[in-house]
Amino acid sequence: MTGGATMRKNTDRPSFRTMKQTVVTILVGKTEKAYIIHLDLLIHYSEYFRAAFTGSFKEAEDKKISLSDVKKSTFDRFVDWLYYREISPTEEDKDPETGRLQYRGIIELYILGDKYQIPKLRKYVIDHIFQSLTTSLELLPSPGAIARAYEFLPETSPMRKFMLDIFARRFTPYYITRAKKMNKNPSCLQNEFLIEALIKIADNTKAINQNQRSTLKLKLCDYHEHADDKERKQCEQSHGVADIDR
Ligand SMILES: [Zn+2]
Repeated sequence: MTGGATMRKNTDRPSFRTMKQTVVTILVGKTEKAYIIHLDLLIHYSEYFRAAFTGSFKEAEDKKISLSDVKKSTFDRFVDWLYYREISPTEEDKDPETGRLQYRGIIELYILGDKYQIPKLRKYVIDHIFQSLTTSLELLPSPGAIARAYEFLPETSPMRKFMLDIFARRFTPYYITRAKKMNKNPSCLQNEFLIEALIKIADNTKAINQNQRSTLKLKLCDYHEHADDKERKQCEQSHGVADIDR
């Protein structure tokens, strides 16, 4: 662990006033595109890179690591987030025909945040998707985005839970028709997901029939990874994002 990172409170962002100027090289994808990144900034957010670059591994000595199975477009967005807190939607996130958001690319960013232990990135992506779904009632993640989440994230992942909950909340047969039309085969959805979705849809229908529609609200903090109840309460009072209630 380097001095700079340990001096700061966990919630603070590193500042160039106090950060060391040590940089590391990350080689991404099969063509090994080289990204030069400030070490203190990287290890402030990622336990994975902290272990790799500050332990007794070869990577720490060389100040270089290779991530051959990460897509360059995903890593570009990660670096934008790291330095600028920016993850605007890209073409990867949009339906080519309608331009509607489907979150296919941004899910990859969340998967990266899971694999490389970057909790603040995971929170940022969840907040971003949740907020965009709050403002647009017709949006739903594409079958491809859901399938990626179910393939690469652990069962306990809040993103998997969110994908399931929003799908069950907003599902209409039109979704499948549209998915087929776009030639994005909805059969890519895993049986595990489909069974969970059926159960969830049945539960939701039951709640509606019993006039308990208010229980169907999706609350942003249900998809955060708070350390404890106190942190959750503080987060609920400060995030300012409306519940999704349809
Ligand atoms: Zn929260």
